[in-house]
Order: sequence, then C-alpha cells, then structure tokens
Amino acid sequence: RRKKQINPEDLVSNILKKNITALSRAITLVESTSLKHQETANNIIKQCLPHANKSIRIGITGVPGVGKSTFIETFGKHLTAIGKRIAVLAIDPSSSITKGSILGDKTRMEDLVKDENAFIRPSASGSSLGGVARKTRETIILCEAAGFDVILIETVGVGQSETTVHSMVDFFLLLKLAGAGDELQGIKRGIIEMADTIVINKADGDNLSKAKLAKVEFNRALHLYPTKSSNWQPRVATCSALQNEGIDNIWKIILEYIDITTKNGFFKTKRNDQNKFWLIQTIENQLKSDFFNALEIKEALKNQIQLIENNQTTPFAAAEFLLNLK
Ligand code: GDP
Repeated sequence: RRKKQINPEDLVSNILKKNITALSRAITLVESTSLKHQETANNIIKQCLPHANKSIRIGITGVPGVGKSTFIETFGKHLTAIGKRIAVLAIDPSSSITKGSILGDKTRMEDLVKDENAFIRPSASGSSLGGVARKTRETIILCEAAGFDVILIETVGVGQSETTVHSMVDFFLLLKLAGAGDELQGIKRGIIEMADTIVINKADGDNLSKAKLAKVEFNRALHLYPTKSSNWQPRVATCSALQNEGIDNIWKIILEYIDITTKNGFFKTKRNDQNKFWLIQTIENQLKSDFFNALEIKEALKNQIQLIENNQTTPFAAAEFLLNLK
C-alpha cells in the first residue's frame, strides 16, 4: 500500500475548517521523531500561528486520585453545554520512564470522549520533560487554529511537570482534597504559590463539612502571600466533580480572572514572557545537547574527569578547558 503524501497546505486549510482528522494528523507529525515529519510540522505550525492565541489555556494539577479526570469530564461537559469547544491535553513525562502512564489512558473520560465539541489527546511520549513540553506547546497552537476556545492541560505532580504546565497556561488550577494533611506540605513545595485557584474536590456527602473547613484554612494560608503581579488574589473553591456541584462557579472565577488580567495587561504580558521563556529554554537545550554530543567533547570530557579524580585539575578549570574546545 502506498503511503499518502502529506500536503501541509491541505492539512492547514482543513485544520482551519475545524477538521479533527487533519488536526490529529498534524499533531502526530509534531510528535514524530522523524526529521522529515518535524520539518513538515514546523511548516504547518508556522501557517497556523496567525490563527492561534485565541483560546483560554487552563492548567489542571493534583495528586493521583484527587479527581482530575472526573473534574475534567464534568467541567468539560459544562463548557461544551454552554457552547464552547474544548481540547484536553496532558503532560505526563512519567510514561517514558516507567513505561506506564500515571495519568492513565483517556478512556477514563467516557462521556467527554463522545462529545463532538471536545477533543482529547493523551500525553505525547518522550525521553525528557522538555521534549514532551515542546510537543504540547506546539499542539496548543494547532488546537487553537482548529478553533478550540478552551484548552485544558492536565498534569500530575511528577518532578517539574507542574512548573512546566504553569509556564504554558493562562490560568493554573490546583485540585486538592480536604484533610489530606498535606496543606502545609503543598505550601512548602511552592505549588500553591503557582495556583490561581485552589479547588477542593469531593466536597460531597460526609466530606462536605471537612471541605468547607479546608477552604477556610487554604484561604487563610493564601493571604500570607504577597499580592501577585497579576493583581489577582488567588481563590479557594469547593466542588464535587462527581455530583457536578460548584463547577459553574469555577468557570465564573476563571472568566473573572481573564477579565481582570486582560484589562490590566497582565494576560498579554504573561503570554509574552512565556514565549520568551520557551525561546531561551529551547536555545539552552539545543546548545547543551550540541555540546555534549560533539565527539571531541565526549573524549575530552572523559580525560578531564580522570584528571579531576587524580587531583590534577579542578572541576572549574576542566569546564573552562572544555568550553574553550568548542
Ligand atoms: P485522578 O487520578 O486525579 O484523575 O482521579 P479520578 O478522576 O480518577 O478519581 C479518583 C476517584 O475519586 C474515582 O473513584 C472517582 O470516582 C472519585 N472522585 C472523583 N471526584 C469525586 C468527587 O467529587 N466526589 C467523590 N465522592 N468522589 C470523586
């Protein structure tokens, strides 16, 4: 069977017509390791870029079991019910390391999968978080060109993945459980500092009063932080993703955030800063891998390590020597 030729112009025009098959094919090119595919992908992204940037990008994180997929399903259904088209992406760097995904497959969101106004794409795989993140950033552009109004990006707190998602979204939502005993731990880890809103999930049944109490405690904790440059005071909300309680309120909070930060210019500044961050990050990564993959460096590095072990040079002198080789 002959492979069908990929015509980037056709793909782009179909993506702009909101054709999901075309979108999926373009994402597959973005995720491909083949250089030829990547070239085509770059071409497609460049053509899509003028049509991108129009969505609201929301990051969602929380420990396994907190209810991320249940929340995304209920929240996603709420959004499609009010006429939004939503894309759900994920960043799961664990899949490459453990050969199994912590976020699991998307059969979890059974109703949302069937919704024609929702597009769900599992995490790209890759050997590094940086690689997975880049693919996700590019996928965001493609989804926006395909006219999705809201992009949800899910991650679980593995290593740096929360920081990575934070650096590509407009709004960062942290899901929590009441009485998990990790309120203070979360504060220490700095995740809470990134959150624009903390949502205490499973606020239902016997858990309801505990959830309300946790809301008070988190609110108190949040007020200890200095006001953000966004001028946004992070909120705490409760919800039951399972019973669809408090979900519309969370959307209202997000709209309020968008309104405030659009008016005071922070929304645009943040996206510009994120683009700058990704530019510098990409250069750094490329320089690093070019350096360490160069044959002469590989050889010389071994020698220098030996010299350091023999006390014949210092790590700093060795670094200077190696950097001067390139
Ligand atoms: P994830 O690992 O963060 O994606 O969590 P899941 O969405 O898979 O949910 C983990 C478990 O918690 C499942 O058994 C859900 O049915 C349950 N769950 C999720 N949200 C709620 C909720 O709002 N209330 C209750 N009672 N259970 C929930």
